[in-house]
Amino acid sequence: MKKKARFQADLHCHTTASDGSLRPGEIVELAYSKGLKAIAITDHDTIDGWQEAEEVANRLPIKVIRGVEVNTDWQKREIHILGYLLDEESGSFNSRIKELQEKRKIRIKEILSKLKLFKIDITFEEVMQYAKGNSIGRPHVAQAIVHKGYARDFREAFDNYLRIGSPAYVPRYKLTPTEAIRLIRDAKGIPVLAHPGAQRIDKEINLWIEDGLQGIEVYHPEHSCEDSLRYNAMAEKLGLIATGGSDFHGKSIKTGIDIGDKGVNLEVVDQLERLKQKYIYNY
Ligand SMILES: [Zn+2]
Ligand SMILES: [Zn+2]
Repeated sequence: MKKKARFQADLHCHTTASDGSLRPGEIVELAYSKGLKAIAITDHDTIDGWQEAEEVANRLPIKVIRGVEVNTDWQKREIHILGYLLDEESGSFNSRIKELQEKRKIRIKEILSKLKLFKIDITFEEVMQYAKGNSIGRPHVAQAIVHKGYARDFREAFDNYLRIGSPAYVPRYKLTPTEAIRLIRDAKGIPVLAHPGAQRIDKEINLWIEDGLQGIEVYHPEHSCEDSLRYNAMAEKLGLIATGGSDFHGKSIKTGIDIGDKGVNLEVVDQLERLKQKYIYNY
């Protein structure tokens, strides 16, 4: 018998469509087995996990919420913007997401040519085998490095070659938070600032509300109790939706964090859906 999740909804999960280790369908089944009632699929810069997750959810009493996590850059800090309930047919969102995917691939090729200088010979195709979806990233390069015996484990691969400041590090092209928020709003989605406690960003939140931000991720494994209390109070004061989730990537990738370890109750899912309804009628 699996340990039951403490929450009804986990609004932050990654699948093999980006850098998670479980397929979208497996994530939905796992969430269901833990007693979750709703789960959001929020892969980095891709919506490719939605379809499979929804197909599996159709035969289970669990709701899949369409989401995405857009990685952005703000004053040399990486800021993540979650988007919920976006319209898939939104042309500008899809084309911009595709452009980000292409730029990810170019970056990986640059990393691989730098690795060659250290006599580490890994082909793009080998890395692609690990990136089962489209959202290729450094974790997939790390897996290839370990598999070919150039490092003992994932952490060593990152520390020696891939981390910021390491010899094969290549910065990634990113949107600004403002661009990501507008992109999500254009697709009639709800933009939410992901784990602000991890980057210690409080002051900028007001700025981004002007851009259209509608929520803050209050509950997240990297938030202390004090962080969650502070952001919850902030969300209340500013009229933002207070979301939460485990940022689950699969146990082999982020150890110690299980699906449903952080989350919210279904009332928050209702709040997101009500906001979405407003868009449909008032846009
Ligand atoms: Zn994140
Ligand atoms: Zn995440």
